[in-house]
Amino acid sequence: MSAGRPDILFPLFAGLETLAGVGPKTAKALPAMGIERPRDLLFTLPHTVVDRRRRDSLREIAPGEIATVEVTVLRHQPPTRKGLPYRVIVEDAEIAFQVVFFRGAPKWIEAQLPIGERRLLSGKVELYDNQYQMPHPDHILEPDEAGELGQFEPVYPLTAGVTQKTMAKASASALERVPEMAEWIDPALRAREGWPEFHSALAQAHRPLSLHEVAATAPARQRLAYDELFAHQVTLALARARVRRGKGRINVGDGHLRAKMLAALPFRPTGAQARAMAEIAEDMAQPARMNRLLMGDVGSGKTLVALDALLVAVEAGGQGVMMAPTEILARQHLEGLKPMAEAAGVVIELLTGRDKGRERKAKLDALARGDIHILVGTHAVFQDEVVFHDLRLSIIDEQHRFGVTQRLALAQKGQAVDVLVMTATPIPRSLSLAHYGDMDLSILDEKPPGRTPIKTALSATDRIDEVVAHLRGAIEKGRQAYWVCPLVEESELVDMMAAEERFKHLRAVLGEGHVGLVHGQMPPEDKDRTMAQFAAGEIAVLVATTVIEVGVNVPNASIMVIERAEHFGLAQLHQLRGRVGRGDVASTCLLLYQPPLTETGRRRLEILRETEDGFRIAEEDLAMRGAGDVLGTAQSGLPRFRVADLERQSALMALAQSDARKLMHDDPTLSSDRGQAVRVLLWLMGKDEAIRLISVG
Ligand code: ADP
Ligand code: MG
Repeated sequence: MSAGRPDILFPLFAGLETLAGVGPKTAKALPAMGIERPRDLLFTLPHTVVDRRRRDSLREIAPGEIATVEVTVLRHQPPTRKGLPYRVIVEDAEIAFQVVFFRGAPKWIEAQLPIGERRLLSGKVELYDNQYQMPHPDHILEPDEAGELGQFEPVYPLTAGVTQKTMAKASASALERVPEMAEWIDPALRAREGWPEFHSALAQAHRPLSLHEVAATAPARQRLAYDELFAHQVTLALARARVRRGKGRINVGDGHLRAKMLAALPFRPTGAQARAMAEIAEDMAQPARMNRLLMGDVGSGKTLVALDALLVAVEAGGQGVMMAPTEILARQHLEGLKPMAEAAGVVIELLTGRDKGRERKAKLDALARGDIHILVGTHAVFQDEVVFHDLRLSIIDEQHRFGVTQRLALAQKGQAVDVLVMTATPIPRSLSLAHYGDMDLSILDEKPPGRTPIKTALSATDRIDEVVAHLRGAIEKGRQAYWVCPLVEESELVDMMAAEERFKHLRAVLGEGHVGLVHGQMPPEDKDRTMAQFAAGEIAVLVATTVIEVGVNVPNASIMVIERAEHFGLAQLHQLRGRVGRGDVASTCLLLYQPPLTETGRRRLEILRETEDGFRIAEEDLAMRGAGDVLGTAQSGLPRFRVADLERQSALMALAQSDARKLMHDDPTLSSDRGQAVRVLLWLMGKDEAIRLISVG
């Protein structure tokens, strides 16, 4: 097998101008809709059809719908004065009606509809003054040309400078270039689902014969969506196999430390925590390397699960490390873990960039001797001089999502080390399969009992004075608040200015010493200091840009005000809200918006009022906005699917994942007949990075 793209695919990757009906202008216009190669046209499908089935009479069609009828032209009625339309009276099998032209040269109209002749007309039916009429038919054909008009006309998405005709022609031309290719879908699966072959699927999807055939449930569409998802899942499965091939170690503990830790807990693990702990322990016991994601909303109790995994590593005679993205978060993790770890009699230490000199050296020595069992820190823990006695598990608390590529790079660092990534951003199951398909998943979808719900309210910005008055009352009672400033522009500078304005305003109203400010442009030490003052209760109100989104924990803070909430993503609002509701007092989240809200805008904010379930919020967000937006397209690393609809076809994603993993298990080098066919699919789908992963194998 050659290393490059197979020759048979070349015509599909040629320039757009090589297609029939595509001139230089169209070729320039198409990239605006993501069409850069003929292959892109294959997967740009019509989203609906116009029904052009022949009818005997206009009367069968409701006004506003399209009718296609054969008529005899009876007479012409040119306008009697300026401003009136040109009318042509025609007759179908049952009634006479008018064809109406508000523009167009009389000569042209006469030539199109000569008196006494038969014509096939297709266009929208209108009822005017109780008379049927058809203004400006879409098609006027002579009876012997009627075959040109299909029963159902595909309607493609368009962009400026591209017409339906061009799209139809260009995609027909691209379809002709699809070469013979061996089937890559498991034959049993294809038979069970009743999916057509690739060629027929494309033909059906582009030339639908009914409205039913443009639905996401149509077999041809399902198949093409599956092709897309499967190619993606094979890519992830290859990445996963690459990680797991790095030889792992069997990490089994006898449970004595975990038992001690659990006995010292003032509560019992939730069902979800127990399940996740069991999944992780079982995975660590496998000879292959663990590459697992622990996904759980803020407050779902990830710390306990993480510690449980770390204790498995220690029981097995080794060490564990947990890495957080910032110093503050590393400290908070230490605070959360330490009491539980010490109850188990395990030594836990913190290492950050701040450790210097003799103290740092002492820590490193203890680590190398194995006297420190668990190390918590920032990325400082990955530096070369940090040598473990016997590292068995790395936990990465991931705040911004890494892509597959970055995760691969991370996994190369430790030899044979099990990897657990934690994320506090729940995403819908279909998306987690798309985004994290290279990992195994443990989900905490249940919150510990006894939490006080957060009261969430919406309020228009013009009531800000009332809000501030309330806030004053609350801080007089010793409560603390976050005040998050609008994210209006992409620029941090603009956000910062808005935050500074609000800071000045609140300081003027609430008093100098009560209000602090943090934003992304501040030096980290200043930010840390202000955060620390807030955590210590020295400041009552913390004005911030979204930098506080990352997991800071100040249990006494019970009020969250978010300005211009309509500008934030739902997931982000949910994350922000998660900063409160951590203490004993009832918490409030106030979403301030700038009226008027659009209907969708209001609906989005109302979802937050209805639920605190991060998974449900993420599902709703997906339903309302589409996949790319939920993750934030730029940082998501999620490919753009052209055919697959992650919302309506989420079951296909799960199917594609298990199929891809099975294939990887049966044929890790993709060298069987089916494996070869899958390679062609990967090229066709532009998964060049996947091909590189195979060639290493
Ligand atoms: P996360 O890291 O997922 O945001 P934490 O691990 O910090 O959540 O847990 C949030 C809070 O819930 C902590 O105060 C923790 O002690 C508490 N907690 C965790 N698990 C349970 C449980 N099973 N029952 C009661 N409280 C729990
Ligand atoms: Mg936590």
